[in-house]
Amino acid sequence: MSESNKAIILYGSLDTEFRTIEAMVKIYCKNHHKTPTLCEQCKDFLEYAFTRLDRCPYGEAKPTCRLCPIHCYKTDYREMSRKIMRYSGPKMLFKHPILAVRHLIAEKRPVPEKPESGASNRHKRKLLEKQNTGN
Ligand SMILES: [Zn+2]
Repeated sequence: MSESNKAIILYGSLDTEFRTIEAMVKIYCKNHHKTPTLCEQCKDFLEYAFTRLDRCPYGEAKPTCRLCPIHCYKTDYREMSRKIMRYSGPKMLFKHPILAVRHLIAEKRPVPEKPESGASNRHKRKLLEKQNTGN
């Protein structure tokens, strides 16, 4: 995680979703890139995923990425995301059953037609920051 992302908090279901993605990237990297810790490419991917979650206009009402009508990932990352999900998805149930089940439940939720305005994590975060500094 970069310095800039370290200070950022994802709220509620967005945090859960990030932890799910993180777990899948770790499984994928371990078996494909064989570096002792997450390789640079996978680190970069995770950071990208983190930023997308922070900025997702649906915020915590976000549908799962598979069902989302907004395709916010750039082509390269989208491709990589597909590879990672395809490989790690089926392994999640055994390695991280709670995260996996939460994701399956999330897939059953109806997809909101349109994001509410100001729903994104980033928006809420900025609002809270403002309140905390008293401006
Ligand atoms: Zn890797």
